[in-house]
Amino acid sequence: MNIVLMGLPGAGKGTQAAHIVDELNIPHISTGDMFRQAVKEETPLGLEAKSYMDQGKLVPDHVTIGIVRDRLGKDDCANGFLLDGFPRTVPQAEALDNLTAELNRPVNYVIYIDVDEEELLKRLTGRRICRSCGATYHVVFAPPKENGVCDRCGGELYQRDDDRSETVQERLKVNLEQTKHLLCYYESTGKLHRVDGKQPIGAVTDEILALIRGSKE
Ligand SMILES: [Zn+2]
Repeated sequence: MNIVLMGLPGAGKGTQAAHIVDELNIPHISTGDMFRQAVKEETPLGLEAKSYMDQGKLVPDHVTIGIVRDRLGKDDCANGFLLDGFPRTVPQAEALDNLTAELNRPVNYVIYIDVDEEELLKRLTGRRICRSCGATYHVVFAPPKENGVCDRCGGELYQRDDDRSETVQERLKVNLEQTKHLLCYYESTGKLHRVDGKQPIGAVTDEILALIRGSKE
């Protein structure tokens, strides 16, 4: 079963990916891991990617796509794979269609963990950290007993700059725009399945697995 898993930051994509690959016994292929591995193995494309990263530049598409092709061609992908973090753009999605056709390992399911922007903001901006001991809380999902005070040591809780609403909103905006185009593309190929990501984690996993195992087809 060849799967592309999509979701905006805060949608719980990483958590779901871990559960799904565990259940289906297929490799979890995330963009970061793929790059690290290619660099470590010093493949020609890995070295090329590294030269861009060392200069602080974006790795161009032809290199990224080559690394994806190398990875999906490996033996452990014979019974399926879960791609996480790739593709990000429509040209990358088109390239993925071409290379998976070449490898005779076409993508069967594109699953989008759907969570609205308001909920994502709530999830992503709620983190609070203790100045004294570093304990982390979430104002909605793991609140301290007393507002703004660490349960463990009584220290003051603060919000990191990265977690501030304006920063998070800016990050989401870029992602939303890219995702919109990708969803359109996959909608047109008939492979897209949306799963309600506002459900509890276990229910989201169950829905994805039911979908993949065909009971919802
Ligand atoms: Zn503390």
